[in-house]
Amino acid sequence: MTTSYIPENLIEEIRQRTSIVEVISEHVPLKKVGANYKGLCPFHPEKTPSFTVNPQKGIFHCFGCGVGGNVFSFLMKHKQYTFPEAAELLAKRAGVRLPPRAGRVADAGTLELQEKLYALHKEAAYHFHHYLVGSPEGQAAREYLKKRGLGEAVVKSFLLGYAPPGWERLRRKFSSYSEEVLLASGLVVKREKGEGCYDRFRHRLMIPIHDDKGHVIAFGGRALGDEEPKYLNSPETLLFSKRNTLFGFHLSKEEIRREGYALLVEGYFDFISPFSQGIKNLAATLGTALTAEHLRILRPYASKVYLVFDPDAAGVRAAQRTLDLFLSSDLRAYVVSLPEGRDPDAVVREWGASRFKEYLKSAKPLVDFVIDQIVAKWDVTILDNQIACVNEVLPVLSKIPHEVERTEYLKLAANKIQISDQALLEELKKISFSRSEIPKIAPKKRRAPSREEWLVATLLWEPGLVATFKDQLDPTYLTDPVLKKVVSEVLLLEDYQPSLQSRVLDLFDQEEDRNYLSRLFMKPGSFFTNVEMMVSDCLKRLKESRIQSIKRALTRQVQEATQQKVSQEINSLLKKKSEIVSESREIFSKD
Ligand SMILES: [Zn+2]
Repeated sequence: MTTSYIPENLIEEIRQRTSIVEVISEHVPLKKVGANYKGLCPFHPEKTPSFTVNPQKGIFHCFGCGVGGNVFSFLMKHKQYTFPEAAELLAKRAGVRLPPRAGRVADAGTLELQEKLYALHKEAAYHFHHYLVGSPEGQAAREYLKKRGLGEAVVKSFLLGYAPPGWERLRRKFSSYSEEVLLASGLVVKREKGEGCYDRFRHRLMIPIHDDKGHVIAFGGRALGDEEPKYLNSPETLLFSKRNTLFGFHLSKEEIRREGYALLVEGYFDFISPFSQGIKNLAATLGTALTAEHLRILRPYASKVYLVFDPDAAGVRAAQRTLDLFLSSDLRAYVVSLPEGRDPDAVVREWGASRFKEYLKSAKPLVDFVIDQIVAKWDVTILDNQIACVNEVLPVLSKIPHEVERTEYLKLAANKIQISDQALLEELKKISFSRSEIPKIAPKKRRAPSREEWLVATLLWEPGLVATFKDQLDPTYLTDPVLKKVVSEVLLLEDYQPSLQSRVLDLFDQEEDRNYLSRLFMKPGSFFTNVEMMVSDCLKRLKESRIQSIKRALTRQVQEATQQKVSQEINSLLKKKSEIVSESREIFSKD
């Protein structure tokens, strides 16, 4: 995981100078409980805290959903950073200077650019806002908003603005920023012919796009006449990625948490309009299909999501893709169908917020919606169609993770296709349930032999023991591959800094392994007074069981060889066996 341009010793320096409690506290409120800190897990919805942070070991683990790791993997998971990005951010906090990244702007430079882009976007938002509220040029935009029924309060809370016509208004206004910064913001575009650049947004209603902390990171520009495109967005920049952004979320996230569910809409005005009418637990995607990242943003705040747009419009395939996304998150999805293809903006404007809320009551689970969509395609009174329909429905049913629900849906689907549920069940059984198809959030409970777990946890808790037992510690004594790797790596270390547990987690690329190890490492240190004796005894037993398993394997091979009458092989195997038997006698005769 640390395969980055940042040398190991600097990673270590960042780790030693960083308080995991401080970093996580910026995202999750934590309370001290004994040696640990606890808070509400940001990775699954919960009411009582099971998310645990241990400052000494430098690790976190959620006993609710099983997610765990160190300060780097926390930022990677919570903010979708890469390892180098997380390390850069923490280095900056801790005042650790990093070497420049090859082929890119120096890292200090990247962070500096990021700061400048935040500042520029903020200033630009006020610049546009000023034109909307205080200049004669903003008249057309003001009229447009009036037509949409949006008043002053909305203009203020969304910081709406107006980009005046002209090719260099913004460019000249912000001449204190270098051309490099202006281009990186996407607010200006490089001229194809000749020198310099020009404003991207001209004569448009400007809608600032914020990140979840409320920084302006991009803009959407709505045409005021017949210009194309109707909506022009900022391009993807250092600050802005559509896949990772939910419009308005900085205004609505607390409301979503309070309600426990989010209404997911598409586009600016389907958010702004209901929001201005008091329906506030909204989130909007921006000109992109729903992504796993979007759901990851929502998950800490909600357990249910109502899709308030027409998933029908995008077709069956798209709806199934959306269903897959939801099945691999632990969010429940419902589809709200609005009448006659109306969007939320139109419903709220024409009929009011209370009517809009009425439609939520008739929301249908997304699974039902997808099954209905498939069944609707076929005239199931014809036998051939029934078969085709079953073939399409089965893969959907097979994805439903809970047996009980699967059975319910199976009955429902059978009824709709007009066949017996027994027949459908038989077909369903033929489909192999590939587990990998549904990446579940709940951790697979993996179990290594408890003796091996105890040994590894104890060695990391008291790294001095590693030196004491260096000659007797043989990684091959351990049967569990993950624990075996921990022991081999720890033996290679030359020094044992604090937070060794956090360091060990960096050795594992698989999230599943980090989750498992963080759970193990969370256990308190050994209570034995004579730990050395216990470790020594433990090693002896592990060695003995290793020898036993070799003996068993040899015996099996002897039997096989006997059956095949290969005498030479038998002799050499028997010799090996007698050697190992005497070795095992030796272990215990030394006592
Ligand atoms: Zn959790």
